[in-house]
Amino acid sequence: MQLSPNFTLAELTRSDTATRLGIDNTPPPAVISALRHLCERVLEPTRRQFGRPVRVNSGYRSPRANSAVGGSDTSQHVFGEAADLEIPGIANGDIAIWIRDTLVFDQLILEAYTPGQPSSGWVHVSLTTRRVPRKSVLTATPRGGGQRGMDYRPGLIIG
Ligand SMILES: [Zn+2]
Repeated sequence: MQLSPNFTLAELTRSDTATRLGIDNTPPPAVISALRHLCERVLEPTRRQFGRPVRVNSGYRSPRANSAVGGSDTSQHVFGEAADLEIPGIANGDIAIWIRDTLVFDQLILEAYTPGQPSSGWVHVSLTTRRVPRKSVLTATPRGGGQRGMDYRPGLIIG
């Protein structure tokens, strides 16, 4: 199923963890609507801006798939409202800055990012129709080499 011209439902629901553990990651209809909204308002414009395919590492996660990857209970991935993305050959900081300055979003996190290492981590971006967008922008840097979680700081800390 095509969600938007360049993104499929399969891409936005793929989960290696769910597959490995035999967890059903099929979204309900409300989630499909949310994913379509995310594709149209965030993923398509980002693809157009950078002129290259956007790789979605994680989109929808069913509650069980989300628990299995250690996601928070309130994760917007569970609602089909968030995607973790990268664009091969483009610095994650450049993607995050462009989204921050251009798009409507709920939360933008430069995640698992080590300042000064342009390809480290990924960009988490969410969009919601359940409330007014928070326009929250954070950078999550690995604490103790990633073994002790992440430190979340306001803004984009690119380094
Ligand atoms: Zn995420």
